[in-house]
Amino acid sequence: MTEPTPHSHPAALSDMDVRVRALESLLLEKGYIDPATLDELIDTYEHRVGPHNGARVVARAWTDPAYREWLLRDATAAVGEPGGFGFTGRQGEHLVAIENTPQIHNLVVCTLCSCYPWPVLGLPPAWYKSAPFRARAVIDPRGVLADFGVVLPADTEVRVWDSTAEIRYLVLPQRPSGTEALSEAQLAALVTRDSMIGTGLAMAPAIGEGARP
Ligand code: FE
Repeated sequence: MTEPTPHSHPAALSDMDVRVRALESLLLEKGYIDPATLDELIDTYEHRVGPHNGARVVARAWTDPAYREWLLRDATAAVGEPGGFGFTGRQGEHLVAIENTPQIHNLVVCTLCSCYPWPVLGLPPAWYKSAPFRARAVIDPRGVLADFGVVLPADTEVRVWDSTAEIRYLVLPQRPSGTEALSEAQLAALVTRDSMIGTGLAMAPAIGEGARP
């Protein structure tokens, strides 16, 4: 076998790829879709919209008490308005932020389908859409959290929030200890996608990082 060159097609396409390409070619040929629009959509969900947006919101809430208060009172505005971050778009309407505390841990699910706050988290991961997660998050939230490696103190209450077409939730995770000296950008790097769904916690700072003046 020769080494693949940038212009060769060395890997066999999966069945799904073949189907998607066939469908795309057909829709293009018939003029039903505009390639520039399609590229724009793909670029939006690959680069512009994603958990890095939500991480910035969380880091701001950790460092700015007035912003935290605004986020908890009206997350749609605090996230979407120009005075906030200006993150708007489909499935970003009616956003509600719920705050984790030492007493309460929040977990988000959509039992019906896969409702998810796209402007702050991007597209949902496959497990979020899976039937086992959707069913078990309600019946056995602690079991689900354990599967994700999250073990909470026994006296922490776990609250499960069911997303709908009307309300999307963003979990405001607890700020890790030892992060007092970190900048907002450094803090945002600790905020994982899962910590904003409630299936994870924000990461601890790297050794030494928190101690930096
Ligand atoms: Fe849904």
